[in-house]
Amino acid sequence: MKYVLVTGGVVSGLGKGVTASSIGVLLKACGLRVTSIKIDPYINTDAGTMSPFEHGEVFVLDDGGEVDLDLGNYERFLDITLTKDNNITTGKIYQQVINRERRGDYLGKTVQVVPHITDAIQEWIERVARIPVDGKEGPADVCVIELGGTIGDIESMPFIEALGQFSYRVGPGNFCLIHVSLVPVLNVVGEQKTKPTQHSVRELRGQGLTPNILACRSTTALDENVKAKLSQFCHVPQENIVTLYDVPNIWHIPLLLKDQKAHEGILKALNLSSTKEPSLREWTARATRCDLLHEPVRIAMVGKYTGLSDSYLSVLKALLHASVELGKKLIVDWVPACDLEDSSAKENPNAYKAAWKLLKGADGVLVPGGFGDRGVQGKILAAKYARENKVPYLGICLGMQTAVIEYARSVLGLRDANSTEFDANTKNPCVIFMPEGSKTHMGGTMRLGSRRTHFQSKECKSAKLYGNKSFIDERHRHRYEVNPDMIATFENAGLSFIGKDETGRRMEIVELPNHPYYIGAQFHPEFKSRPGKPSALFLGLIAAACRQLDTLIGNAPIKPPNGVASKKVRQNGKTKKPAKILSGGVYGYSNVLFKRFRFNRGL
Ligand code: GLN
Repeated sequence: MKYVLVTGGVVSGLGKGVTASSIGVLLKACGLRVTSIKIDPYINTDAGTMSPFEHGEVFVLDDGGEVDLDLGNYERFLDITLTKDNNITTGKIYQQVINRERRGDYLGKTVQVVPHITDAIQEWIERVARIPVDGKEGPADVCVIELGGTIGDIESMPFIEALGQFSYRVGPGNFCLIHVSLVPVLNVVGEQKTKPTQHSVRELRGQGLTPNILACRSTTALDENVKAKLSQFCHVPQENIVTLYDVPNIWHIPLLLKDQKAHEGILKALNLSSTKEPSLREWTARATRCDLLHEPVRIAMVGKYTGLSDSYLSVLKALLHASVELGKKLIVDWVPACDLEDSSAKENPNAYKAAWKLLKGADGVLVPGGFGDRGVQGKILAAKYARENKVPYLGICLGMQTAVIEYARSVLGLRDANSTEFDANTKNPCVIFMPEGSKTHMGGTMRLGSRRTHFQSKECKSAKLYGNKSFIDERHRHRYEVNPDMIATFENAGLSFIGKDETGRRMEIVELPNHPYYIGAQFHPEFKSRPGKPSALFLGLIAAACRQLDTLIGNAPIKPPNGVASKKVRQNGKTKKPAKILSGGVYGYSNVLFKRFRFNRGL
């Protein structure tokens, strides 16, 4: 097993995760099998209890692991399925060591950071690196380890110490260190400044780790004399210094690394001879195709955490995968759910007007998952608007539950219908607490991970979108569910529960048959969407929003995107001005890299 460690310097939010995933893509293209481990030095056992406001979305794995969103990047880029152990945290390591201490494993010894914590970290890495994640048998060839945070953070010290020991133990030729750093350009002089990188490499070396490769984030490619200076001060050969300059979308990053021959430096450090020149044809095609898209599809995202796009990262990626597949330029309009509520009309009329304007201007509506009652009424109003106006709607988890509550209130006439999550005493509990959940313990106590959904009929949009399979496996994360005792009432009133679990009592997919596209899923389809393999329900939403759903599920070929930008776009029978597209779009590299505010992660 060979190891590639990716560390970050200078500031957080440099896009280390995307860089590390792209390195994985490049190595995979060299014919190697790649796995990955993400180290998060925070004390939380996992990301399950962290607010998406602060930390971005909680990514959910097949095995029910609630992990850092970077594992989503790895799964999407490398098309692999990771386990919860692929995400190491300080909490997990200490918990293991303390459990061992209580069991008497260290009897007589003083349990210390070095060697006990550092040994536990190394053992964990070696064990997890060997778990096959790509569907093939046997361990991968290379494990990419990403160390979260920035060099110099107090929390990451034991990990750096452990990794220093580890690199010595596995020996040269088996370990490659890539340091991702920032080379700022000062506006006044327009000069690329190397000092911050010099300092962070010095700090890294001071802690026993020497980088083999420097990956420098900068707005433009590094000048040769800047590289020479970095090489001299950081003791990294000039050819091993690559620039990750701003690109229009993140799929360019593996291409950028390949063009600068990053793989040659990595393979050399790992004592591997290059078997073949890496081919990234699919990536090149996708990256350029994405740059050329111009026909907009507007999706209103009615959520709670609309201030931070990382809160819904996988949903955005899934929308993007589907839009690119259908040749549309994705525009996401963030609609804060609270602003749609009646109370906002009085308290904040401008926000109220703006929110409704965005909702009404959208080609499709998406209500993502969520917890807690803030904004729920707004989500219910969005579901009502989409249902009554025949606007394509996809509700995910809470978005499905709000669609059901809305139906109960508006169609069944049950005015106080609600989820017991929001009103414990409602007389019409149409969404109820699941018996296996816990109300007292928060971490890992939901219905989590991959569960099976059986289609009740093939004559529905969702079954067709999933390729007429009789069942599907998707990832879950919820404590509440649609009340099984009310299903007959709903179905008599026209709402179809088209997907159920194996017992037939747990509702998984709801559809409104006489609507262009009105689907709710109790699971989170976004977590399994991949570039080039978009998730079925997202593809359905975008297709319906572009009036291509019949073509899609009737299996007729989808019209490829036109090459030339048109001034006016015909949509919904009206001629619309093309939407204003912000540079980079929602998936711009710069967006993903720089708008990741992680307040709780070091400097
Ligand atoms: N809060 C809801 C529940 O626990 C929905 C969860 C979600 O959207 N992920 O069931």
